Amino acid sequence: MAGFESRRIQAAIESAARAWTRRVDTIETHDGDKVWLEQVACNLCGSRAFEPLYRKRDTRFETSDHAFQVGVCGRCGLGYLNPRPARQSMDAFYPTTFFSDRDSPKRRRRYEQELALLPPRVTRLLDVGCANGDFAARVAARGIEVEGLEVAQSASNRHGLVIHGGWQTVPDASFDCVTAWAVLEHLHDPMEVLRHVARVLRPGGCFVFLVPNFASPASREMRLEDTPRHLYFYTPETSARYLQAVGLQLDSVRMDTEIYARGHRGYLNYRVRRALGREFRPCDRRKPLRGFERGEIGLAELLWAWPCDQLDRALAPAITRYFLRRDRHDSMIVVGRKPASS
Ligand SMILES: [Zn+2]
Repeated sequence: MAGFESRRIQAAIESAARAWTRRVDTIETHDGDKVWLEQVACNLCGSRAFEPLYRKRDTRFETSDHAFQVGVCGRCGLGYLNPRPARQSMDAFYPTTFFSDRDSPKRRRRYEQELALLPPRVTRLLDVGCANGDFAARVAARGIEVEGLEVAQSASNRHGLVIHGGWQTVPDASFDCVTAWAVLEHLHDPMEVLRHVARVLRPGGCFVFLVPNFASPASREMRLEDTPRHLYFYTPETSARYLQAVGLQLDSVRMDTEIYARGHRGYLNYRVRRALGREFRPCDRRKPLRGFERGEIGLAELLWAWPCDQLDRALAPAITRYFLRRDRHDSMIVVGRKPASS
């Protein structure tokens, strides 16, 4: 009993340490939204020992000029954005177009690939971060009872499914599978969500999630993360620690070569630019001719960047395989399981 008490006290101390935040700054987006930036502690271990790695602007939607800082926890190695936009400021970084392209042929192919990854004999599934419910609708078409969970206001329930707006309405031990496709990297408190996942899973049920792999050069060196929408950056090791922290067992980590992965095309371009002391922007990843046409690079740069890109294209499959074999592929699928006896 004393052991139980001390574990409970320890858990409360860790939980308080993880919840620490401090507002440090405000920035303004190009649309004139004022955004609070907050410093946070590590969401996995509660440590405030943060080691900055790089800074990156919102190069995808160009919402602001602010370069957000990506780094790792000095104690457990979890990657995270710090400081980061406060939760109530995040709408400024999710334009409606973020959810609009969800039924394109490319997306539909993704949903089919995700369906193929579901474990056999699933009867009730919860899709976390279900957006408009497009994947969930495909699950339902297979005869599986399905519900979704989505907190974003800009998403719409276009298939008329049961979609929860928060965890409070999801009952305990009610699903034998929970999925989260490219969701955990967007959360402000992944530990809280993991706890809920563990709570709503039935004993023996599994949690399947896909995240970018922060052990990959694409994420860690080439900076291809979608900042500031991506707030956390996971590796196979930190994913396993998250599962363990909420009482789930790690079933498997497999590198994702089909769904979201882009591989390491551009890695040679990145290395050459770095060797030359030049900045590497997402547009420098490939196709310098297009960059030249758009005025992003000059003729002198095109003269060396173009042959370099040809070599990059030729070597990309081998480079991608090299990192894949070392579990440093750019995207991964993790499966955790709730012990049957709990
Ligand atoms: Zn940590």
